[in-house]
Amino acid sequence: MTCDEARTSMHFHLDGDDHLHVQNARRHTASCMHCERHMLDLQEVEDRLRTLKRYAAPADLKERILLAVRDTTQKRPLRARPQLP
Ligand SMILES: [Zn+2]
Repeated sequence: MTCDEARTSMHFHLDGDDHLHVQNARRHTASCMHCERHMLDLQEVEDRLRTLKRYAAPADLKERILLAVRDTTQKRPLRARPQLP
């Protein structure tokens, strides 16, 4: 497995996937310190993202979006049909 392949597979690992390519990536990182460092950096970012606070969307957000979409589709001019020769 190349370093590029291993680094691509690391993202599957972080997503909780455990297929063969993830196992191969683990073997690769055990013998490649550059990829091991990359994996540790990815895990650190993942850990920090998990600790971020989650904010609830405003209660009326869905309604406002649906109204905006409806207004946009009503204002859109009808498409002209293509002219046949
Ligand atoms: Zn590598």
